[in-house]
Amino acid sequence: MRMNGYQKENIFRLLSDIKSRSPFYARKYEGIEVESMSTQEEFETLPFTDKGDLREAYPLGLAAVPERDIVRIHSSSGTTGTPVVIPYTRRDVEDWAVMFERCYRMAGVTENDRIQITPGYGLWTAGIGFQAGCERLGAMAIPMGPGNTEKQLRMMQDLKTTVITGTSSYALLLSEEIRKRGIRDELCLKKGIIGSERWGEKMRQSIADSLGVDFYDIYGLTEIYGPGIGISCDYRNGIHMWDDYIYFEIIDPNTGKILPDGETGELVITAFRKEGAPLIRYRTHDLTRIIPGECPCGSRFPRIDIIVGRTDDMVKVKGVNMFPAQFDEAISALDGATGEYQVMIDHLEGRDIITLYFETDLCEGSRQDLERDMTALIKSRIGVTVVSKAVDVGYLPRSEKKAHRFFDNRY
Ligand code: ZN
Repeated sequence: MRMNGYQKENIFRLLSDIKSRSPFYARKYEGIEVESMSTQEEFETLPFTDKGDLREAYPLGLAAVPERDIVRIHSSSGTTGTPVVIPYTRRDVEDWAVMFERCYRMAGVTENDRIQITPGYGLWTAGIGFQAGCERLGAMAIPMGPGNTEKQLRMMQDLKTTVITGTSSYALLLSEEIRKRGIRDELCLKKGIIGSERWGEKMRQSIADSLGVDFYDIYGLTEIYGPGIGISCDYRNGIHMWDDYIYFEIIDPNTGKILPDGETGELVITAFRKEGAPLIRYRTHDLTRIIPGECPCGSRFPRIDIIVGRTDDMVKVKGVNMFPAQFDEAISALDGATGEYQVMIDHLEGRDIITLYFETDLCEGSRQDLERDMTALIKSRIGVTVVSKAVDVGYLPRSEKKAHRFFDNRY
């Protein structure tokens, strides 16, 4: 995607003094004359910033402003090792709330709404982001935080919550509880604003139906403000990204090369307006693609697709990058396939062979046609040739994790 004039101006202004402001980038860009850069091509030669780099800056090494200008910190979950601490200035906090208010408006939420906030508050960015955007919008915040389903449902009924926010898994839990108690008609829910995670369309629709809401996918990550840097619109055909705060690129996660618009790869973000800790070419490890063209909603903000996975899930075979979500989608689209499958990748006689085992409830006689249709479908959707093998329902081992459906036996 080409940088627009506003992005260019801001990105190169940032580069012009980043080394004098940020010890982190002074070290990272040692020997690179970023001060004099002025073209997108030059920008694209800059090394990526990765989460591992940020850990080394612990605790406050990412700060690009004097300490007196830092008004808040957030920290991304350190499931492994040292956490990452992100400093925010007053303007960063404001900018984030402005973006979040925009998200609510995109979802049609108004000051008449009552927003129940179930993400956590504290070091993690989510809850406070939902809260700040809600207050800026002028809606009523019901700051629940996570858990305590009993109380959540009670507040939802008594305070007539109209917008529920949270993770998809928590929305699922609430929807099951609501169904179990048969209280859907006593609720006033209209919309759900749900963190963008990969979950099948069928699952998603079933949660939305039992809550009686329309879902909007919100995107973000702690390192870049937090949730709220983009959201889907009424057309649900991707996520509009606030490109007046961030610039984004899609790269091949293996080679680092920039991919043409429309191709799926890793999302890389530059937060060019951020003062406290501006990140330049930050690797999100989220897989998505830029959706070319205009959205029918009329918004001028560019779109990325729903996040389809993490770069760790990605496998390269015969020069094609593949990931489980593509198989999920293709297989659930074929009548006769139940949706359970397993992909085996082997290296035999000098070449890579992909075998796709999928379950079917069709009888032996009609399986050959089904296998042929499956191979054709995968070829057209993903661009690789697989050997399809239909098996009985229950034949394949069950696994909670979708990623465990891929077995790479080549190495
Ligand atoms: Zn739209």
